[in-house]
Amino acid sequence: MGKNIHICGICNQTKEDGIFLYQLYICQECEEKIISTSPKDENYQFYVEKLRAINQSSYTI
Ligand SMILES: [Zn+2]
Repeated sequence: MGKNIHICGICNQTKEDGIFLYQLYICQECEEKIISTSPKDENYQFYVEKLRAINQSSYTI
């Protein structure tokens, strides 16, 4: 039996654990990074842009 392996839309790596946000798969690591990233962090904008690409309406973290 194969495991559910998906390609993370943030880090582009294949991961077993993660969630689907709309059509975008986000691995557990990236999900935690997104949650723990503050708006002051330079990575924050990167994540926001990624999420915006899949949901054109405003997305709030
Ligand atoms: Zn990831």
